[in-house]
Amino acid sequence: MNGILFEKMRFTCQQSGHCCCDPNIIVTLTYRDLLRLFTTLYCDFRLLLQKISFYTLDSTTSPILEKQMVLETILTSDGKVIPGLKKHSKKICVFYSRPSCSIYSSRPLACRNYPLAFVKEKELIMSTWVKNSPKTCPGIGKGSPLSQKNIEQRGKRFFKEIEKHNQVVRELNVEASNNRPLTAREALWTLIIYGESEYQQRQK
Ligand code: SF4
Repeated sequence: MNGILFEKMRFTCQQSGHCCCDPNIIVTLTYRDLLRLFTTLYCDFRLLLQKISFYTLDSTTSPILEKQMVLETILTSDGKVIPGLKKHSKKICVFYSRPSCSIYSSRPLACRNYPLAFVKEKELIMSTWVKNSPKTCPGIGKGSPLSQKNIEQRGKRFFKEIEKHNQVVRELNVEASNNRPLTAREALWTLIIYGESEYQQRQK
């Protein structure tokens, strides 16, 4: 297990923007991320589509790589897709506006936790650094050690959102297998509607 003891992890964001400009980082999106972005973008679906990419997996994708994906792929008539943030031609996140993120308060789950990655074995949550981040992120090693409680809480929130997202995607995929699969855009809209109805339920 590539876990690191919580007490040894130090991180304070230096606002370097390295993670937002790293061509090797893809920010994938849960349905709650999609709803947060949709709301931030004035509930304008066309505007949202300008900011989203559909990362597709096909027969050339290694099964090992597919297995490592935290988010399950969505079966659509456009292929097996995972929604993620678009990048500019220079491979910079579409929301990065020097010197910082232009949607900071609604940034996706992956950005909230970077450079922390979580691993779950049975009920034990462990934490490590996102691959390559110790080489590129100047915030690692800075500040006081992160507390075990803080990391555990973040890890729990992370897995709760991921597992719920994957459950919704699995239901969509069963539908897609039994009926006409949705297009990637229709699947995106369905996830937003799901997120919105869940939000409304929570408000009651
Ligand atoms: S959404 Fe914001 S924090 Fe996340 S990669 Fe893009 S600019 Fe950076």
